[in-house]
Amino acid sequence: MIKLLINDDSKSDILTETSFGGLPVKEIGKNTEWPSCRTCQAKMQYQGKIKTDIGLELIFMCQNDPGLCDEWDPEGGGNKVIIVNSENLEFFKPLEGESLLRETVYGVNLIETDADDYDSARENWEGNKRQVLGQYDGIPSWIQGDETPECDCCSKSMRFVAQLEEGPDYRTAMNFGGGGVAYLFDCKEGKTAKFLWQC
Ligand SMILES: [Zn+2]
Ligand SMILES: [Zn+2]
Repeated sequence: MIKLLINDDSKSDILTETSFGGLPVKEIGKNTEWPSCRTCQAKMQYQGKIKTDIGLELIFMCQNDPGLCDEWDPEGGGNKVIIVNSENLEFFKPLEGESLLRETVYGVNLIETDADDYDSARENWEGNKRQVLGQYDGIPSWIQGDETPECDCCSKSMRFVAQLEEGPDYRTAMNFGGGGVAYLFDCKEGKTAKFLWQC
């Protein structure tokens, strides 16, 4: 059983659901710092959030100098995942810089399909393949080799959370190197997560 993330524009601004673009969320009343890139020191761009059993995993990636800040690297500091509890949430805005947000906003439906793996589930999807935004849970389908990251807190291989396509429209797509695929991993015990992409 493969759980496909299927584009759904009507679910674009739900605080507690998986969505892409728009504003990130934080716990009400809590100060949350907008993450900065380790290489260029500037603020990263918010990509989207993935709902999991340990909270919402918010993905940020540097887009100030695409390709030069090791944005693909789970250890490079050019991307960052922040995990927030999925209760008492509010949206929050960056203090400066429209470019820290992606204009387009879209949500997802989680659709279970009978397939051996993600690639065949995507292949069998009837309709526009770009509507398939990735998979949740399951087994990653790597473009390059297996790059499952190790957790910093317990040194174990991290749990695979989701695999993400660049988005439903090439004009507004996330930048995973042009046709790339991103992978999200977490650690339930340490409540940490890592993000990487391949193309
Ligand atoms: Zn940067
Ligand atoms: Zn850990």
